[in-house]
Amino acid sequence: MLKVSNLVTHYGTSQALFGVDLEFATGEVATLLGRNGMGKTTTISSIMGIVKATSGSVLFDGEELIGRPSFRIANLGIGLVPEGRQIFPNLSLRENLIATASNHLGMAEPWTLDAVFDLFPELAVRQSSMGNLLSGGEQQMLAIGRALMTNPRLLILDEATEGLAPLVRQKIWSALSALKGRDLSILVVDKNLTDLLKIADRHFIIERGKVVWNGASDELRTNRDVLHRYLGV
Ligand code: ATP
Repeated sequence: MLKVSNLVTHYGTSQALFGVDLEFATGEVATLLGRNGMGKTTTISSIMGIVKATSGSVLFDGEELIGRPSFRIANLGIGLVPEGRQIFPNLSLRENLIATASNHLGMAEPWTLDAVFDLFPELAVRQSSMGNLLSGGEQQMLAIGRALMTNPRLLILDEATEGLAPLVRQKIWSALSALKGRDLSILVVDKNLTDLLKIADRHFIIERGKVVWNGASDELRTNRDVLHRYLGV
């Protein structure tokens, strides 16, 4: 599904990524873990073409993404739930969901408003509320719903539950678990390791712009050295 090889990215003269490698398959949930400032957001931005990579390769279902503009990358079937949510503040919840809805890949059963409301019933009752009046949890559910309305094959979440109350966090994790059964790959960045260990198949740990460890949940759960050294747990 996604194969990132030797991805190098600079901000001006400052190098942020030093050859990131990661790979996961269709239907898998993968995480990108690491302490603050290690390059998680830069990796996602480079995959999405939001930040221009200096070199390396990002293959999505065999197609090279490097060098393509962001909107083309999105149209290939990658939905991004960005850090900070970036809900349109002056559109209603319903308009936020419709504004960027698309089915470029011609999915047989595309996402609908009702399907999003089934996944997040709390959104149904807030349909006419303006984006800027929604709570953080509602905004995050909306950001996920908005990404799903583009009918992605890969969903990428940067800081999936940052700043959310524990109960709301659980709703996000339940939704991601429900999505897992739907032939959708998910790449998630988050700090809640306990929850990620339960829902993810594979983990990639990034340290100073390079992936230094990857493995399955069971391997990570029992590897005290890796947990301590790279995640400070
Ligand atoms: P966090 O969890 O704090 O968001 P992160 O792992 O996502 O961290 P990045 O935001 O990708 O890390 O940052 C990686 C490195 O790139 C850091 O050294 C950061 O200071 C630098 N960096 C990030 N964005 C920019 C930018 N727009 N201009 C210059 N340097 C940047």
